[in-house]
Amino acid sequence: MKRFFKNKKAIEHFLKRINTMTCPVCGASGTFVRHGYIRGAVSIDEYGIRGWRIYCDPDSTHGNGCGWAPSVRLSSTLLYRCFSAEQLCLFINALLSGLSVYSAWKEYMAFVSLRTGYRLFHRLIKCQSILRTELLSRSPPPEKKNAGLPLLQMFEHLQETFGDEFITEYQQKVQKDFLTTS
Ligand SMILES: [Zn+2]
Repeated sequence: MKRFFKNKKAIEHFLKRINTMTCPVCGASGTFVRHGYIRGAVSIDEYGIRGWRIYCDPDSTHGNGCGWAPSVRLSSTLLYRCFSAEQLCLFINALLSGLSVYSAWKEYMAFVSLRTGYRLFHRLIKCQSILRTELLSRSPPPEKKNAGLPLLQMFEHLQETFGDEFITEYQQKVQKDFLTTS
């Protein structure tokens, strides 16, 4: 089932059809209903709805759903984060330009604590193996500009494969959370 969408219009279009969908978990048909919103950072200067929950309703008139409640989301947003994909891109680009984690945080992420900045950096390290697997299934790694730093090489690979808005594009094309570790 598709989870990431380019814009609200695409999500609205999807939500209109959920009552005809088959649940991939329990196989029931016609049991999905809308189930509220997830709010958070949508872009650098916009806070609003970034996710829509749907629910496989156990009390559906079309049969018994299983209670599974996935969300569908804008591909420009990050799950459980107070910042957008665009903001994380700026942070990563700063690291790529040679800035330290501290300087990149100070320049682009200072609205969260420094501790959060470092935790985010370590999270990116943990996400590497999944990101790398997805990348390698799409294109070979680019020529090494950042010799010896595997994380930075992978960011270059991401840029080359998915363009300037590589986090949004990654989520849209791969249909996986950028910051997932499993
Ligand atoms: Zn179900």
